[in-house]
Amino acid sequence: MTTTATTPQQVLETVFGYPAFRGEQQAIIDHVVGGGDALVLMPTGGGKSLCYQIPALVREGVGVVISPLIALMKDQVDALEAVGVRAAFLNSTQGPDERRAVEAALLAGEVDLLYMAPERVTVPSTAELLDRIRVSLFAIDEAHCVSQWGHDFRPDYLALSLLHERWPSIPRIALTATATAETATEIVQRLDLGQARRFVASFDRPNIQYRIEPKNQPVQQLLQLIRTEHPGDAGIVYCLSRASVEKTAIALAEHGIPALPYHAGLDAATRSNHQSRFLREEGIVMVATIAFGMGIDKPDVRFVAHLDLPKSVEGYYQETGRAGRDGLPATAWLAYGLQDVVQQRQMIDRSEGTPAYKRRMSQLLDAMLALCETVECRRVQLLAYFGQRSQKCGNCDTCLAPPESWDGTVPAQKLLSTIVRLERERRQRYGAGQLIDILIGKRTPRVEQLGHTDLATFGIGTELTDQEWRGVVRQLLAQGLLAVHGDGYGTLVLTEASAAVLSGTREVRLRREVARPTRSSKRSAP
Ligand code: ADP
Ligand code: ZN
Repeated sequence: MTTTATTPQQVLETVFGYPAFRGEQQAIIDHVVGGGDALVLMPTGGGKSLCYQIPALVREGVGVVISPLIALMKDQVDALEAVGVRAAFLNSTQGPDERRAVEAALLAGEVDLLYMAPERVTVPSTAELLDRIRVSLFAIDEAHCVSQWGHDFRPDYLALSLLHERWPSIPRIALTATATAETATEIVQRLDLGQARRFVASFDRPNIQYRIEPKNQPVQQLLQLIRTEHPGDAGIVYCLSRASVEKTAIALAEHGIPALPYHAGLDAATRSNHQSRFLREEGIVMVATIAFGMGIDKPDVRFVAHLDLPKSVEGYYQETGRAGRDGLPATAWLAYGLQDVVQQRQMIDRSEGTPAYKRRMSQLLDAMLALCETVECRRVQLLAYFGQRSQKCGNCDTCLAPPESWDGTVPAQKLLSTIVRLERERRQRYGAGQLIDILIGKRTPRVEQLGHTDLATFGIGTELTDQEWRGVVRQLLAQGLLAVHGDGYGTLVLTEASAAVLSGTREVRLRREVARPTRSSKRSAP
């Protein structure tokens, strides 16, 4: 304790200007002030920072914060200095002079909080420096970055086990907004936090409305969302590729929406310019890859839109969690289509990883697909993924407009038997497009050329439109009744479970799609 014997409550009020702790902040802070290790799982916006900042101010010495967010360190330090906290950072953006100045301040006892990039920890001179000062605690922010199976893995995080080996008596607090039991277990193992007390906050974000719909004309759907529900609001639009980020940003701008692109292919100056415009100006829509967002503290992001399927529920939760940090109503909207599923499966197949890695990535994707196709409350399903139970929320698309389900057994049989015939009779495999053309009896040049008009299943699926068939294929993929072959061409093959559908012993329930533009445009035609 410092000589003035300040309490956490006093620091909360006098330094940060807040009257009361939130949730478990007080319990976490008391535990760390008392010298205990802690693992804190708390959603974005829950108030993790105070959990290590206050103990660092109450305990004697320097609180060392390990953070992967190098681009934000200066802002974080500036914000702390603005409220009178003596903070500094060490990372690769600094020149030798600047680094020496920080070191001198540390040795002179003029720093209470030191932010540090993980790669600095393994540099011998850093360890020597830390040996010469009194360290009050180590905070490991974004601790899920240590998880090799996770979506934000940073190899440098693995070296952080060294902290405990070298300074066993200094308390550590690891924090993350990722909550799966698996990630937590991995953090505990890799950072040797077996003795740490766990604090798990509720991961519910009641002010966020979750909505997932089929992707038909993504930009039009997005424009509709922005114009009808979020005109003039700040938002983030996530796309999978740099190219689609660029294309979408241009399309939005052409429709008068102040949109800016952000991805790793832009130069650093442009990225930081766009980021600060997003933070400082009102109503900017950031169109970005997932390279954007971690650590961004903009409270009034009113919507997060995904134009492509996230790779995992964790990723989806983190990205959507950037909406509505101020607690006011916000929208998390995702449009996804058949192509997303095919593309992501291909990406997994083609990746360099081990078979175990690919299996793991497939499992993560399957859980994401299950969330997309659920007829239950999205929030219940989302929280269940994180091991938390909840009631139907009344504030997600499935609660607000419960989806009808229909008996899709016959269409599924038609599709599956077309695949069987092509394989058995002709040793051929095709992607969704060709199969659907066959089913609806479309005489395209390719269909004619390949002689597919002769197939027994040619034209037997006219009860559904092209669009509806795509929905069927997508849902069958999500249910594991159909698979994308690993040949890299997106061809569709049967799974073990398909046989029961073909033999009529398994019924297929499908979710009725709300948006069906193909059908309505056909109907309005004379
Ligand atoms: P996280 O790191 O968990 O995403 P932050 O630490 O950035 O969340 O906190 C989110 C916001 O909540 C910040 O603006 C912070 O100042 C505010 N906040 C945190 N704790 C409290 C509190 N006890 N009272 C009022 N505001 C708080
Ligand atoms: Zn719900």
